[in-house]
Amino acid sequence: MPVDPAAHLTVSVLYPTLLNIYADRGNLIFLQRRCEWRNIGFSINSVGIGDPIDADGTNLIYVGGGQDRDQALCASDLAGAKAELLRDWVASGSPMLAVCGGYQMLGHGYSSPSVSIDGVGAFDAETVAGPDRLIGAIEIKTDLPGPTGGVLVGFENHSGRTTLGPGATALGRVVHGHGNDGVSGMEGVRQNASIGTYLHGPLLPKNWWLADWLIASALGISVDHLPSLPNEAEAAAHRSARKAAGS
Ligand code: GLN
Repeated sequence: MPVDPAAHLTVSVLYPTLLNIYADRGNLIFLQRRCEWRNIGFSINSVGIGDPIDADGTNLIYVGGGQDRDQALCASDLAGAKAELLRDWVASGSPMLAVCGGYQMLGHGYSSPSVSIDGVGAFDAETVAGPDRLIGAIEIKTDLPGPTGGVLVGFENHSGRTTLGPGATALGRVVHGHGNDGVSGMEGVRQNASIGTYLHGPLLPKNWWLADWLIASALGISVDHLPSLPNEAEAAAHRSARKAAGS
C-alpha cells in the first residue's frame, strides 16, 4: 500500500530554544529529509513556554536535551499546563522522542546539586544526578525490528542516573557505554511508540531505521509501506558509531 499522497507529518517540538543540546536538532532535520525524500509533507510546531500543544494537529512530539539550567527554565511550564496532555500522550503510546534532559523531565522528576525539577510523570522513571558525568559513545540492543538487529548507537553525556519503576520498560540493553544509570545495564524507556533515551549525536541519522519507524508510527502505517531510500551514508555512520562505542 503506497503512502497516501496527502500524508503529512507534523512534529510538535517542545522548547526548541532551550532543549537542543549535542546536535539534537539534527533529529528534526533528518525526519524532515526522510519525509521530503518520500514526498511526505513535513512541518514543525514550535512549542515554547506558555504555548499550548495542539495534540489533534500533532503526529509526533519531540523533546531535546539540555543543561540543568535550561531544564529549570521550562520545568514549571512542562509539568504544569502541558503535563496532563503529555501523560495521556505517552499512556496512549503515541509517537514521541524525548532525548536526555527531555527524557528526564517526562519522568517523575530530576534533581541535582543545582536543580530540583518536578517531572511530568509520563514515564515511570526518576532521575538523580550522580557525582560525575556519564559520557561517551554508546551502543544498545533493542527489541525493535530494524536492519541493524535493533542496535542503536549514539553519544551520551549526562550526570543524571535514571531509575525505571515497575510501570516502565527499558528501550534497550547496554552493549557498550553507561545507559540509564551506569549500573543496571538498561538504557532509555519505551512505551509503544513513545521513546525516552540518552542517545545524542544526533540519534536518528546514524539510526535511520528508527527515524522511519517513528515516521511510520506517526502516520499510522507499517514501516514496510514507506518507500525505500538509499541508506549507504547512514549505514556507514552507524558502523562508525558502533566502532567508536567499542564494537
Ligand atoms: N542536565 C541533564 C544531566 O546532566 C541532562 C543533560 C542532557 O540533556 N545531555 O543529566
